[in-house]
Amino acid sequence: MDERPTRITCDIDFQKPGKQLSYLRLVHSDNRHAFGVVPVPIAVIANGDGPTVFLAAGNHGDEYEGQVLLQGLVRSLQPAQLRGCLIIMPALNYPAVLAGSRVSPLDHENFNRAFPGDPDGSPTFALSHFVETVILAKCSAAIDLHSGGRSAVYLPCVYLHGGGGKALLQRKIAAARAFGAPYTVVARATSDNRSLSAACDRRGILMVATELAGGGTVTPSVLQLGRTGLRRLLHHLGIFAGEGPRDDFAATRLIAPLGAKSSVMAPTEGLFEPYHDVGETVKEGDVAGVVHPVAELDRPSLELHFAHGGIVSVRRAPTLVARGDYLMQVAVEIDEATLYA
Ligand code: CA
Repeated sequence: MDERPTRITCDIDFQKPGKQLSYLRLVHSDNRHAFGVVPVPIAVIANGDGPTVFLAAGNHGDEYEGQVLLQGLVRSLQPAQLRGCLIIMPALNYPAVLAGSRVSPLDHENFNRAFPGDPDGSPTFALSHFVETVILAKCSAAIDLHSGGRSAVYLPCVYLHGGGGKALLQRKIAAARAFGAPYTVVARATSDNRSLSAACDRRGILMVATELAGGGTVTPSVLQLGRTGLRRLLHHLGIFAGEGPRDDFAATRLIAPLGAKSSVMAPTEGLFEPYHDVGETVKEGDVAGVVHPVAELDRPSLELHFAHGGIVSVRRAPTLVARGDYLMQVAVEIDEATLYA
């Protein structure tokens, strides 16, 4: 266990009831930050006894649905509505959020590949270390709102990391059912161990993530899905005072990608014309789309085929593609029992 203390300071009193709006003082000195502090926004809203839950968006700076939802939540939520404590960071990797980019412009690091972090490391690693050792240490649950960002559009879904053992996975799936997105993706337990989800698994913290559309923008319909799901999930976690929502939870369908055969990759550079959108059901061998070579007008467009049938769960957003870019991914419906086999 890394015992080195964080260099990040913050005037929040995590024991105090009420609404506190402040920032973490992320220590970093370069040409732009001569005084050596990057202010990372944080809100703590607390009232009485109950769970402590971490709510994050902007883990990747170009994923806007969660950022917009949490900006609204911080401004609208009153302490009396709660029973417990919400720690909200709507712009988690703040330098990346300001740059509108997936990774931080300060060190070009990916926040979701920076755990358990390093208190003496570059800004992204110092921040992930603070999140793991200071914030997660107080929490019993965490919610990390992602989307496809500028590079992709997801079938709006709850996205669960399959690690942490059977009991924790059962609790994650119950929480995903409470959120009630049309789909819940269950990623393999062996997926990356440097993510915020993996950090929560290590600590036995219930983590629910989302992938809410993307494409570098927001739409009213996906925000509505996210807002409703978040409200249901916070009720499920027992942090909202009073009665839960009356509306029945929508039945979520559990889906999972099937490794390399799930993805369609660009074999050459050109313009990708998709033949399917997210949410469509396709069969093995169906044409996923074509790549048009830009300059060689006498060269036929290249047809790309699905190597596996299923539900289209991800589609690349930018039309201009290069060899090796992921263009589409399909996932198949799974039974909850098979996850524990
Ligand atoms: Ca993401």
